[in-house]
Amino acid sequence: MATFKLEPLPFATDALEPYIDQQTMEIHHGRHHQTYVDKLNEAIEGVDELQGKSLEELLQNLDNLPEAIRTAVRNNGGGHYNHRLFWEILTPGGPNQPTGEVGEAIKEKYGSFEAFQKAFSAAAVARFGSGWAWLVADESGELEIVHTPNQDNPLMEGKQPILGLDVWEHAYYLKYQNKRPDYVAAFFHVINWDVVNEKYLQVKA
Ligand code: MN
Repeated sequence: MATFKLEPLPFATDALEPYIDQQTMEIHHGRHHQTYVDKLNEAIEGVDELQGKSLEELLQNLDNLPEAIRTAVRNNGGGHYNHRLFWEILTPGGPNQPTGEVGEAIKEKYGSFEAFQKAFSAAAVARFGSGWAWLVADESGELEIVHTPNQDNPLMEGKQPILGLDVWEHAYYLKYQNKRPDYVAAFFHVINWDVVNEKYLQVKA
């Protein structure tokens, strides 16, 4: 029995054109994300103590997992969580500026949206090799920009991501080749700030 499953994208694969191209979306969601889900299910299959655990519970307690499957859960559970969040915070034609309380918090922390965009983009470009850039929030509403390697994520460090950007080459190479900064700039046209704000409000106590 497969515990985790790949949900359909919340928009058509060509909906984010021209910023993220259709072929990349098809391969990224239909193959890469599917593979993380399949391999996560494979890793936890038959491990009784892990049945019924949520993805978040698995990733927040990696040290307590049986050693034989720890790396597989880290990579593939991380891959499933990260991509699930990524699809959720993307949208065609969303507001190009943060909305609600997260918008206020961004202005307060970084001075302006433009300054935040610059700092986030710098983190996304600075991540060497494959990984993710994140905006995380804590219970007091404090924001922080971080980046992680591979399919690691802030949950593994006890932090709550509210926005994430995949900077693996599979996320952008077909359209942008080696020009990661262009892909990062394009990402800012398709962020679903309403969802980011909802996530911010959930984390903030
Ligand atoms: Mn990816």
